[in-house]
Amino acid sequence: MRAVIVEQAEDGSTSASVQEIDESRLPEGEVTVRVEFTTLNYKDGLCIGPGGGLVKTYPHVPGIDLAGTVEASEDARYSPGDKVVLTGWRVGELHWGGYAQKARVKADWLVPLPEGLTTKQAMAVGTAGFTAMLAIMALEDHGLTPEAGEVLVTGATGGVGSIATAILANLGYEVAGVTGRLEQAQYLALLGASKMVSRDELDHTVKRPLERETWAGCVDAVGGAMLARVLGQMKHGASVAAVGLAGGAQLPATVVPFLLRGVNLLGIDSVMQPYDARLRAWQRIASDLPKDRLQGMMVEARLEDLPRLAAEILEGRVRGRVVVNVN
Ligand code: NDP
Repeated sequence: MRAVIVEQAEDGSTSASVQEIDESRLPEGEVTVRVEFTTLNYKDGLCIGPGGGLVKTYPHVPGIDLAGTVEASEDARYSPGDKVVLTGWRVGELHWGGYAQKARVKADWLVPLPEGLTTKQAMAVGTAGFTAMLAIMALEDHGLTPEAGEVLVTGATGGVGSIATAILANLGYEVAGVTGRLEQAQYLALLGASKMVSRDELDHTVKRPLERETWAGCVDAVGGAMLARVLGQMKHGASVAAVGLAGGAQLPATVVPFLLRGVNLLGIDSVMQPYDARLRAWQRIASDLPKDRLQGMMVEARLEDLPRLAAEILEGRVRGRVVVNVN
C-alpha cells in the first residue's frame, strides 16, 4: 500500500514522502478501511510538516480525515463493504491517519457515510466542514435565526470559512466574509456571501472595548486580535463560535462585551464530539450544504501533492477544500 510517511531526523527536522509500505505496519484497531479519499486541513499542515507538538512518534502517517470502504471488521457495527467516514479522535496525530490506501482504526471513531454524500463529497467537507456545521449548530442553539441580522465568517476563503459561508447562505442568512484575499470576491459571492470585509479592517488591536453593534453571529476561524475586535462589534446577546487560531492563539480582549452586551463566546471542538452529535452534524451537512457550492470550492489532489499543499495551508494560501484521491 502507498502512504505519506513523515520521518524525523536526529536534529528534530521532519520530511514527508510517498512510500510503498507493508500493510503489516498498520497500527492496531478493530476496523480496516480501504481509504478512497482524504483531505487537507490546517492541522494536517502541522502534522505533515513541523508536527506542532501534535505528532508524538515517527515514522508517522498523517491525515486527520478519511472516507472509504470497510475491508475487515472485528466489530459488530461494521461489515466489509460498509462506507465509512472518520474525522477527529486525534487520528493523523497520535494514530496513523488517512494519507494512505488503508487505515486501521477503532470502530468507535467511525460514522457510517451519511446518506446523500459520496466518500469524495464527505472529504470535500472533512474536519473543516464538519466543524463549520458544529459552529452553526451552536449558534442556532443560542438563538441565532436569519432574521437576527448579518453573520460574520472570518477566514472566509479557507476551509472552515468557505463551508460555513455556503451553509449559512443556503439557510437564508446574510453572510459577511472576512478575507485577506480581496481578489477572491467572486469566489465568496459564489458561495453565497453578500458582503466582503477586508482583513485589514479587523486587524487592529482593540482600542475601544465596544464598537457599533453590527453582527448577529460569527463563525471565527482566525482567533487572535481579530476575534477580540469582533467581540466588541457583536449585537446584544449575540454569540461567536470560536473555531480556529489561523491568526493567533492570544485573545487580547476585554470582558466588557460579555458584561455590557451579554455576548457569548462558544468554544467548538470537533475532535472529541460524541457519536450522536457527529451523526446529527453529518445529517445537517448532507441536507444544508448545496452540492454545487461544495463542488465550486473543491480542488482535487493526489498523495504526492500533500507535502507541497501542507506548506501552503500553513501560509494561508489554500482556497476552499482540497480532496485527495489516495488511489
Ligand atoms: P485554512 O487555512 O483553510 O483557513 C484559514 C483561513 O484563515 C485562511 O484561508 C485565511 O483566510 C485566514 N487566515 C490565515 N492566516 C491569517 C492571519 N494571519 N490573520 C487573519 N486571517 C488569516 O484552515 P482551516 O479552515 O482548515 O482551519 C481554520 C482554523 O480552524 C485553523 O486554526 C484550524 O486549526 C481550526 N480548526 C479547528 C477545529 C476545531 O475542532 N476547533 C477543527 C478544524 C479547524 P482569508 O485568506 O480568506 O483571510
